[in-house]
Amino acid sequence: MNFIAPDRTETESLRIRTAARVVSRFAAERADALDRTGGFPARDVVECHEAGLLAAPLPVALGGSGLDAPAMAPVLLNVLAEVGRGSLALGRLYEGHVNALSLILRYASEPVLRRLVADIHAGHLFGVWNTQPQAGGLVLDPHGTGELAGVKSFASGAGAVTRPLVTARRPDGRQQMLVVSLEPGTRADLSSWCAHGMRASTSGVLDFTGLPVAAQAAVGEADDYFREPHFSGGAWRFTAVQLGGIEAVFDSLRAHLVATGRGGDPHQAARLGEAAIAVETARLFVGRAAALASDPDAEPARVIAYVNLTRLAVERAGLDVLERAQRSVGLAGFLQTHPLERLMRDLATYLRQPGPDRALTHAAAHVLADARTADALWRDPGTNDPADLQPGRAA
Ligand SMILES: Cc1cc2nc3c(=O)[nH]c(=O)nc-3n(C[C@H](O)[C@H](O)[C@H](O)COP(=O)(O)OP(=O)(O)OC[C@H]3O[C@@H](n4cnc5c(N)ncnc54)[C@H](O)[C@@H]3O)c2cc1C
Repeated sequence: MNFIAPDRTETESLRIRTAARVVSRFAAERADALDRTGGFPARDVVECHEAGLLAAPLPVALGGSGLDAPAMAPVLLNVLAEVGRGSLALGRLYEGHVNALSLILRYASEPVLRRLVADIHAGHLFGVWNTQPQAGGLVLDPHGTGELAGVKSFASGAGAVTRPLVTARRPDGRQQMLVVSLEPGTRADLSSWCAHGMRASTSGVLDFTGLPVAAQAAVGEADDYFREPHFSGGAWRFTAVQLGGIEAVFDSLRAHLVATGRGGDPHQAARLGEAAIAVETARLFVGRAAALASDPDAEPARVIAYVNLTRLAVERAGLDVLERAQRSVGLAGFLQTHPLERLMRDLATYLRQPGPDRALTHAAAHVLADARTADALWRDPGTNDPADLQPGRAA
């Protein structure tokens, strides 16, 4: 673990949160103009780099802000939520970058790490591309020529991410993580990304066929990508970005009620109150999930189950806020001229994440088999866990 003196940690936390707020504000201003096929937020990504956000997940010793340290999880939460609040598309891209760095820090060998850290400081955007079509997924060296074959789908930042971390099937059938070097604007097909929302995430198809695999592309051993509890537990980070998107819809709903003078009506007040409960529920869940998933001493099974519950709790909160916003604002909120229109499409789209039913039933199976009483399911009674007292609070 990375040791940082408390005063330095606090200064850096404040600096990086302020940077996230500034980047988020500019991203929010540009988001409507980028809401189209191929509308990648290139300027926002450059600002992330210039503000130190791309390097922030690295340890201080590697020139980052130390957001990889367990104690910095609340700060990372706030940074992810802040970026997502300004632009969910940028939040998705940034979360992919943070996820890639976390895998690289955990599994890369020293020389690979050193090379990739230099790329991070040079401003390369990373991402994690695991999803692929059932047929035609990515294969490592199928013809013994040292090349890749196949595609990744729903690849956020396709054509702009120049250092994707991908999973590729090895000849023995297991999955190998590789960080591949791509030239901007090459190999991407965005024609399939004609999405309801999240258009600026440019989550298209990337064809790797014929791309030579560099000797130092491999990160970790076979199937490390799926190692638990990190694989399932890491999902807390996308819930933090979703939280930002939920908060943006909530703020827009409230602004509408204030501007139209309709907030005092008892029906409108009740819906706003319910939406406020949903937002806070999401924030409390994400705060607790971040604390648990970042605690090296936490029980792995408990981490996985809690993060799975968090995914569903945040999805529910998002759907609740969307419903309240649609009913409270009415048809005006569906017009492209209303700020809610894109915010709601982006959130509805980004709430779609893999296997939600499985996440819920997996958590239920954990609870069923756990003999501890309800008060002790997720925390050890008698311990004063700071995360319980102040979930999600910035350090
Ligand atoms: C904006 C955006 C950006 C993305 N970017 C990336 C990226 O950069 N990299 C990447 O790897 N992926 C990315 N993804 C893809 C993402 O990781 C998921 O693969 C995708 O969101 C899955 O959504 P889905 O609704 O199709 O999930 P599914 O898992 O297909 O779920 C759809 C429904 O089917 C149910 N279901 C799932 N499996 C089964 C089954 N076997 N039998 C019966 N029912 C089942 C689910 O519970 C759910 O109800 C992105 C997704 C989005 C929305």
